[in-house]
Amino acid sequence: MLIVGPPGAGKGTQAARISEKLGIPAISTGDIFRANVRDLTPLGVEAKKYMDAGDYVPDSVTNDMVRDRLGQPDVADGFLLDGYPRTVGQVEELDRILADGDRPLNVVLQLTADTEELVRRLLQRARVEGRSDDTEDIIRHRLGVYHEQTETVVQLYAQRGILTRVDGIGAVDEVTSRVLAALEPFTGPGQAA
Ligand code: ADP
Repeated sequence: MLIVGPPGAGKGTQAARISEKLGIPAISTGDIFRANVRDLTPLGVEAKKYMDAGDYVPDSVTNDMVRDRLGQPDVADGFLLDGYPRTVGQVEELDRILADGDRPLNVVLQLTADTEELVRRLLQRARVEGRSDDTEDIIRHRLGVYHEQTETVVQLYAQRGILTRVDGIGAVDEVTSRVLAALEPFTGPGQAA
C-alpha cells in the first residue's frame, strides 16, 4: 500500500502505526534520503541539493533507489511506501516494479489537511527537529510543488478505484482510528495489505 499527502499531513507518524498494526515494513523515501545525506554517500550528496531547496529529487535518482529497496527480502509479503510516488513518472516506474514482481497495489491512503495547518505544523517541526528544508519560504515552496506534481498522482489512483481519503486534522490517535477504519475494506480486519 501507499500513503500520500502534503508535507506535514502526518504520513510518517501514521505510517509507523499502520506498519505495526498490519505487520508490514514502512519505507519512507524522505528517511532514506536523509540517512544518505547524513552518511555523506554519493546519493546523499546529490539529493541534498534538491532537498534543501524544497524540490523533488530527480526521478532517475529516486526510481533507482526505490527499485533497489523493493527488491529486498523484508518487503516480499507487503509494504507501506511513504513519500513515493510523487510524480507521474514515478507512478509509471512503480507500476513496472510491481508488475515485475507480480505484486498488486491494494490501496492508496491519502491524508488531507489544509495549507495553514500544514505550515503551522512544519514550522513547529522545524523548531523541534531543525530540518534544513523547514524554513517558511521553503515550506510554502514544498506545498506548491506538492499541488503541482503530486495531486495528479492522487487523481490517477482515484481513477483506478484504490484511493481512500482520511482527514489528517485532529489528535494523532483519532487520525489513526480513522485510518484503520478506512483501510479495513481493503485489508480485512487484522490482515496484511
Ligand atoms: P515531506 O513529505 O515533508 O516533504 P519527506 O521527508 O517525505 O518530506 O521528503 C523530504 C524531501 O526528500 C522532499 O522534499 C524531496 O526533496 C525528497 N524526496 C522524498 N521523496 C521523494 C520522491 N518520491 N521524489 C523526489 N524527491 C523525494
